[in-house]
Amino acid sequence: MGIVDELLNAGIAFCDADNPNKATHAPVTLHPTPFPLKKFAQATSLQPLFNELIYQCVQQRHLLEDVCRDLISSAKKDEFVDALFGIWERCQFKSPEIFFNISRSDYMLDEHARLEPKLCQVELNTVSVSLAGLSTRVSHWHKARLSFNEQQAMPDNDAIDKIAAGFSEALRVYAATFQVPFESLHIAMVVHPKERNVYDQNSLIEAIDLPGQIHKVHLTDTMPVDPLSGRLLWNDKEIAIVYYRTGYDPSDYVDQACWNLRLTIEQSRAIKCPDIAAHLAGLKKLQQVLCQDEQLCKIIVDAEKRAALQACFTGIYSLDNVEAVSRAKQAPANFVLKPQREGGGHNYYNDQVRDALIHLSADELQSFVLMERIRPHPRITSIIKNNHLFENVSTISELGIYGVVLMAPNVCINYAAGHVLRTKPDTSDEGGVVAGFSALDSVILV
Ligand code: ADP
Ligand code: MG
Repeated sequence: MGIVDELLNAGIAFCDADNPNKATHAPVTLHPTPFPLKKFAQATSLQPLFNELIYQCVQQRHLLEDVCRDLISSAKKDEFVDALFGIWERCQFKSPEIFFNISRSDYMLDEHARLEPKLCQVELNTVSVSLAGLSTRVSHWHKARLSFNEQQAMPDNDAIDKIAAGFSEALRVYAATFQVPFESLHIAMVVHPKERNVYDQNSLIEAIDLPGQIHKVHLTDTMPVDPLSGRLLWNDKEIAIVYYRTGYDPSDYVDQACWNLRLTIEQSRAIKCPDIAAHLAGLKKLQQVLCQDEQLCKIIVDAEKRAALQACFTGIYSLDNVEAVSRAKQAPANFVLKPQREGGGHNYYNDQVRDALIHLSADELQSFVLMERIRPHPRITSIIKNNHLFENVSTISELGIYGVVLMAPNVCINYAAGHVLRTKPDTSDEGGVVAGFSALDSVILV
């Protein structure tokens, strides 16, 4: 069997861009990529702390609220953040009764002019984190191609089972909290109508393993709330968890009805994954603000935890930082300029950084952050993409660690939940796999 058939058989696939009924293999590396054991362990151990950070940002709300107000107060206000924030405000900034989030913290190794690589956080994702299913499959596919000895150096990757376990637990907590039989509860996975990453989504549905209790829904669907109990309904079924795999980009909201649904869901008693505040906690602007020790202190009181988090931070500056902006104009290749968007393809690199800093107005730049560029050493590998094998590609990799956090009265569940490695040609600035920049990869520890 050829490699492409093997990948399709293993479900390492996307829907074809032109024909949704046809599968096309996902881009993958032929072999796992070496990653330093110490840095992998560091990234894994950080995940519960990042989960705590998200939870605390939501609970303590004032810092997050200030960041949002800043973004929506300028003349060139961020309409998307404004709409999300408006919902949070309409809900009176209430903390959810049951807090549930699936996170992913992404890292690259900075190896430029250093004796030891530094693990550097690229960003913290709190909404619609994907690829746990495909990444688990790629780890298994790679493993099967290795010798017994090599296999021992691959860390277990049970991302999809660990995330699925989070959903089962959240459902149990909902059943106990509202005294409803577990069997009568349902999960609504909110998906994009033109989603290509369907096999990844389906692998989570399979892993949760509650046939008939998980449904794919759209932001254009109708989901009424029972005003007395707060129960959220979809086709007369009680929805206990609304899990967003879309809704992080302004274009996902095709009309006002989509926003109305988001508000309705938020006001219901259903568990939101994520709720509006946790969604906003993934803002790059918040990441930048938390890089300042005096701000992080407000959210994480324990100095040891703070130091652990800060050890993976890279310089991120707001655009009123004259010194940083001047350095970026002089050496734009050392920086990445990021607007408040998710999902890849939005950042500015190299000369684009200088051009934007010169030509965009202060109002336009207010919502951007300026980040020091992380520089991993390139590695030579082989990538299978578009049914072709590309050999001797010079690449760099990005490690993502998944996290599950579930908080409710007498419930505190918080753990790291597997990983994904994405590898891209070192000539490519952006990183998305579905967007076609990166290949799925797995880790071999060295
Ligand atoms: P998005 O929300 O679009 O995924 P990211 O912050 O993850 O935004 O940026 C997209 C991609 O750009 C990343 O996957 C990474 O490949 C690259 N990138 C982002 N920040 C940096 C950085 N500081 N240094 C080097 N590459 C970066
Ligand atoms: Mg990213």
